[in-house]
Amino acid sequence: MDDKEKSKKLSSNNSDTNGEFESSLRPKKFTQVIGRKKEKKNLQIMIEAACRRNEALDHILFYGPPGLGKTTLANVVANELGVDILVTSGPALERQGDLASILTNLPKRGVLFIDEIHRLNSSVEEIMYPAMEDKAIDIVIGKGPSARTLRLDLEDFTLVGATTRIGLVSSPLRNRFGACMRLDFYSPAELKEMVFQKARILKTDIEDDAAYEIGKRSRGTARIAIRHLKRVRDYAQVTNIRRIDLKVVDKVLRMHDIDDAGLDDVDRKILKLVIEDFVGGPVGISTIAAALSEEVSTIADVYEPFLIQEGFIKRTSRGRVVTPKAYKQLGIDYEETAKQQDLI
Ligand code: ADP
Repeated sequence: MDDKEKSKKLSSNNSDTNGEFESSLRPKKFTQVIGRKKEKKNLQIMIEAACRRNEALDHILFYGPPGLGKTTLANVVANELGVDILVTSGPALERQGDLASILTNLPKRGVLFIDEIHRLNSSVEEIMYPAMEDKAIDIVIGKGPSARTLRLDLEDFTLVGATTRIGLVSSPLRNRFGACMRLDFYSPAELKEMVFQKARILKTDIEDDAAYEIGKRSRGTARIAIRHLKRVRDYAQVTNIRRIDLKVVDKVLRMHDIDDAGLDDVDRKILKLVIEDFVGGPVGISTIAAALSEEVSTIADVYEPFLIQEGFIKRTSRGRVVTPKAYKQLGIDYEETAKQQDLI
């Protein structure tokens, strides 16, 4: 477990590991959540029904690439329910005792948020099942023939899980969630609205088309839009620009190697590698990761989903293949390269 994971072992009350500042950018109410219409509506109905019945909200699982609002929605849900949220992550819960002590200390109808829930180890996951279903945990006391199982009743609670890899969440765990919500990439227009929302909080003045440009070049991801906004704001501050316009955004994003489609250095390296070293593919994801000295999970969770959604890469049964759109984006002549590589 690294330091980041250790520090994430447990935090509470709508705070998060990104610190006070990041949490001030995070929406607290549904009215502040941009887009996510369907998810908001379904969550609002679930919350209202649970409140009318005086019960805890059913368990919820959010999944999708990083930076799309899973933690944000978990915090909003707790806030709208008017209950405390305890935040932890799968790898931070190493032993059954870690989870047992959190569960037995949860306030009535409180929310437990477990990020990266696909990384829970199987012995911890095992005590999660009765906790989710029967609001109880079984603890084994002693060893050998004299070992006894003690059942501890828990307060009614809501588990909110988040994962970037739904395929790695075991089906017994997945089946115990009352709702599984997939969070898709945001549209440039939604990200533009988000840029305006965060710019207001950061007391930064930005023009309409400049905010849209940030939205368009943020890989459909809220966290990236915020990061771009902060870099543009830094530049505006040190160069005494009072109102950020399109030209400034373009200049700063280019300085940070973000191209007009929002692709960054690693995105381009992936495409270039497949084109130049693997004749356009097919090539396996582990080969791509090894060639770029990246983790397979980083390529699979962070880079590939957007490249696929935007049609730069296609996933086939034999591996990843780049499309003519990728050649065009990199300024590589598809027909010329194909001829040289003896493809046509
Ligand atoms: P995830 O948990 O999926 O990695 P987060 O919830 O941490 O993503 O979101 C990253 C940042 O993006 C947060 O700081 C939050 O301010 C912002 N954000 C994400 N989704 C929205 C949204 N729908 N409306 C407003 N801000 C959002």
